[in-house]
Amino acid sequence: MADRTLTAFERMWLARTDRRAFLLGGLTLLGAGAFTRVQARPRWDESPFALGVASGDPADDGVVLWTRLVRDPLNGGGMPPAPVDVRWEVADDESMRRIVKHGRVTASAAWAHSVHVEVDGLEPGRVYWYRFHAGAATSPVGRTRTLPRRSDDVDRLRFAFVSCQHYEAGFFTAYRHLAAEDLDVVFHLGDYIYEGPGRDSQARKHHGLELATLEDYRNRYAQYRLDPDLQAAHAAFPWIVTPDDHEVDNNYAGAVSENNDPPDLFMRRRAAAYQAYYEHMPLRRRSVPRGPAIQLYRQFNYGKLASFFVLDTRQFRTDQPCGDGLKPQCPGMSDPRATLLGPAQERWLFDEVGRSNGQWNVLPQQVMMAKVDRMPGPDERFSMDQWSGYDACRTRLLEFFAARRPSNPIVLTGDIHSNWVNDLKVNFRDAAAAAVATEFVGTSIATGGDGVDQAPAMKDVLGENPFVKFQNSQRGYVSCSVTREAWHADYHVLDYVSRPGAPRKTRASFRVTNGRPGAERL
Ligand code: FE
Ligand code: CA
Repeated sequence: MADRTLTAFERMWLARTDRRAFLLGGLTLLGAGAFTRVQARPRWDESPFALGVASGDPADDGVVLWTRLVRDPLNGGGMPPAPVDVRWEVADDESMRRIVKHGRVTASAAWAHSVHVEVDGLEPGRVYWYRFHAGAATSPVGRTRTLPRRSDDVDRLRFAFVSCQHYEAGFFTAYRHLAAEDLDVVFHLGDYIYEGPGRDSQARKHHGLELATLEDYRNRYAQYRLDPDLQAAHAAFPWIVTPDDHEVDNNYAGAVSENNDPPDLFMRRRAAAYQAYYEHMPLRRRSVPRGPAIQLYRQFNYGKLASFFVLDTRQFRTDQPCGDGLKPQCPGMSDPRATLLGPAQERWLFDEVGRSNGQWNVLPQQVMMAKVDRMPGPDERFSMDQWSGYDACRTRLLEFFAARRPSNPIVLTGDIHSNWVNDLKVNFRDAAAAAVATEFVGTSIATGGDGVDQAPAMKDVLGENPFVKFQNSQRGYVSCSVTREAWHADYHVLDYVSRPGAPRKTRASFRVTNGRPGAERL
């Protein structure tokens, strides 16, 4: 349609990218000459390490070390266009006296002066400390840990999983508590940032407008990373991250944005969002985005104890088949072509889980897998953005669990800003059917604000969904302790996030016993 009216987002995006393209064009011309020389001895008025340090994507011989140099974090970073020489060190003591590895890397403007060092040659299953230097400035020290060898008998794994940290909705106090734990790794299941514009009368305020350009996304990550509690959690453990929708746009599916913007325009926005995600996360080279494509589904093995299959349920999904929101059962839900994973990721998942020798086979992913009817009474309503909107895709996976019987499948979920424990079944309507897997849904760090223990309407919902073992709508995170015999999950909650300093309470604990899918309350 020639005279189609532009959506509000299109108008905003076009207005802002035109200006940006003009500015970037000018910088490119200047950059061709004087600014391309590497700055080996940059000078700083203030530390360029204001965004802290992080590590992630551990292997049995190394890990990714991350930082990003900034001078003006909320306004494009404030760095000159020239690349900067950064030195890094890994030590086996906290005081950084016994350096076991060190090197140099160049931080370039093209990647927002972010640094991703893939260290190798380290010992398996060990704690290390690391830091960076740029000129005379030295970063804080971070602590990390390598994976055990895949063939190792590992007695115990401790980790936490987190999601949904809306900066405006509250303080990241949960991370302060998490950072004080003794963990091997942290999984982030998405909504690391939120894309909305700054709004008044919230606990805190986003800097800037709704995110559209690369610089917008960079500024938003920088604002979140200035948070001291989030920095402490990154500095304490390696993280394994996967995004959900708000890293790009609410409830997007593949090339389809929330407001059905033209796909080519949305894909440019997605490319900017994925680039900023990569720039701010401790990811390996395999995850360097190519335009609007990024490789994020991947596997990690904690010896023979646990294998993790991290999923990406946004990039390759088909559009929500019956529209968004809560809907009754509709024919599109059972369309076998409706997919959350896309064919390649689904094949990879079945192949790798099928041949896994992990005692626990864990799927850290984004959206709720259990088929929860959200409507009290005989009518049914299912969330179309979750696995329930993609029934055929979910059934293929649950039937695969039932038929192939991989050892102890566990699903870890974020997205809905509430805690749930669910038995997963091939047929959720059959109350007598055995579980084939167990789902732990973790609440948000901040999204939703202070929250309540359980909304009154939720009691009726639980009554209609007997495979749900627990529900709670406070803020917090889940920590898990895994041995060969049992999986133990602690649901930690805070009474408030609208102001800092809430103490942590363990609201509920659950156990899954080896060989017996389904959770048992302790
Ligand atoms: Fe969220
Ligand atoms: Ca109902």
